[in-house]
Amino acid sequence: MEILEKVKSLLPKEAVSRVELEGSEIIVYTKDREFFRSHEDTVKQVVSQIRKRIEVRPEKNLTLDEEATKEIIKQHVPEDAKIKDIYFEPERSIVIIAAQKPGLVIGRGGETFRTIRGETLWMPRIERVPAIKSDIVENIRKVIHSEVKFRKEFLNTIGERIFSERKSSRDWVRIIGLGGWREVGRSAALLETPKSKVLLDCGIKAGATNSELIPIFNTKEFDYNELDAVVISHSHLDHIGAVPMLYEYGFDGPLYVTTPTLDLATLLWFDYVDVMQKSTTNPIYSARGIKEAVKHAITLDYGEVSDVAPDVRLTLQNAGHILGSSLIHLHVGEGLHNIVYALDQKFGRTTLLDPAFTDFQRVETLIMESTYGGAQDIMPNRAEVEKQLMDVVNATIERRGIILIPSFSVERAQEVMAILVEHGLEYPVYLDGMIWDANGIFTAYPEYLGRNMQKNIFQGNDPFLSPIFKRIASQQEREKAWEDKPCVIVSTSGMLNGGPVMQHLHNLAEDPKNTLLFVGYQAEGSIGRRIQKGWKELPVPAENGRTTMLELKMQVETIEGLSGHSDKNQLLGFVGHLNTKPERVICVHGESQKTQELARTINRIFRVPTDAPRDLESLRLK
Ligand SMILES: [Zn+2]
Repeated sequence: MEILEKVKSLLPKEAVSRVELEGSEIIVYTKDREFFRSHEDTVKQVVSQIRKRIEVRPEKNLTLDEEATKEIIKQHVPEDAKIKDIYFEPERSIVIIAAQKPGLVIGRGGETFRTIRGETLWMPRIERVPAIKSDIVENIRKVIHSEVKFRKEFLNTIGERIFSERKSSRDWVRIIGLGGWREVGRSAALLETPKSKVLLDCGIKAGATNSELIPIFNTKEFDYNELDAVVISHSHLDHIGAVPMLYEYGFDGPLYVTTPTLDLATLLWFDYVDVMQKSTTNPIYSARGIKEAVKHAITLDYGEVSDVAPDVRLTLQNAGHILGSSLIHLHVGEGLHNIVYALDQKFGRTTLLDPAFTDFQRVETLIMESTYGGAQDIMPNRAEVEKQLMDVVNATIERRGIILIPSFSVERAQEVMAILVEHGLEYPVYLDGMIWDANGIFTAYPEYLGRNMQKNIFQGNDPFLSPIFKRIASQQEREKAWEDKPCVIVSTSGMLNGGPVMQHLHNLAEDPKNTLLFVGYQAEGSIGRRIQKGWKELPVPAENGRTTMLELKMQVETIEGLSGHSDKNQLLGFVGHLNTKPERVICVHGESQKTQELARTINRIFRVPTDAPRDLESLRLK
């Protein structure tokens, strides 16, 4: 392969024993000890010349014995790093060091890392062990590690596809909406470039009936066998829910995500399989599809540039929406066209995350969400919202009641937790449902949180480790929480459509000292929405499968404005702050009227052509 020959020719001949591809990364194996120990400068020059990533690894016969390697690592890494495990991938000459404080394994300026590399002649990889134990994080790492042979071959095949001399079959760039255009749910868009096809997001529309549940795959433009890559923006079901389906069909290409997105997605996929098995005779996938998706995942950090297809280069950047959420930047051809896919996103600071990234070098086409793109969609000021929340909590605490907060397990729950800690709450906060599992994932990736939050965590003030939080893992603990007045209970599901929150509601509804506090959107038809409309008697499912009437005497409060989405002004602010003005803006992901309103507003203010296309419409970009 040309690119491999080129790398070989640029490095000292005697140093290189073989060159391989792992995805778009070029792996240089060496038999030369000295070269392995001090190759940085030489390799840096080659990287800047060919603009591809290169990693140098030792041939296996150079590597030190595994036990001796462990000794050396323990000798150089301070105990404070809290190493939990050291394990090896001899096939790739990699030693993985799992520690609670990875920074201490790397050392100042990378000194400890280099010492370990130089003395053991293994390539060290460092993994953060989450401060809260997470089965999902552990299992994903286990799957990827145990599949090292498969992964090596898979990554090599992907690399060969990326760097293949594929002939152009088209001379245009276009994008087709397969879902989520003039609607919210089942987001999916197919990008066709002269040489490649890439799928952006692959979601479901939760609660929809069959024909609208998944993206429109039965159109002649879409064939999963032709896809070079699937890129996922973030782990909400309306963006990830249908991914395992593709792998159950037999798709064998790569899934590009950030690591937290992969972990959170896996948590939600398993939960969704559970829900499907209970509620439908015809699940759209099973655990098998999930495992295949995990095996085919290629994770990227924010800002890491990666070739993903013969003429597409991908970079993910912070979207400010949920942990690991990404704006997707695609560079097509050599300077042919640049696309930013910005759904979902928040261009405003939250307690956990920084505002969405805007510093793109080039953007010709911007594809953005319109969830709150309507003229009236203006959210209250953030500090005011937090004050309202604390006022409701404190008032209930004063009368020794319980505050019940229905919440999704990912992001909103953690955002509320962080606010409660920041405002100095001193009463117990019970967490029920999948929230605790999601917390584990949050503590595994502090580098994906906002700068302020990171600073807190690295100074030892991790809000998720606050002693006010207590996990509910059994019926007994649930009942204990009801006795522990005053307190806060945060529980799934977020719209009172089942989950442990229903038990809490049953138990707390009749005491007017308690408060039911909504912090998230309640969809039409949900029990949550009915309560917001003022219903005081509610038919709710009881344990024996029948329906009972619930009398609601507790206080009901709603806090608006904790959304992880940009409101109208933040959407406009995002466009205005982009480093370069886009030539065209495509508004999707919103109710029909909102996408059209946002398109009109952006057109009027920024004087650029805008569109609000429907599903199945195809837009030529170049
Ligand atoms: Zn989302």
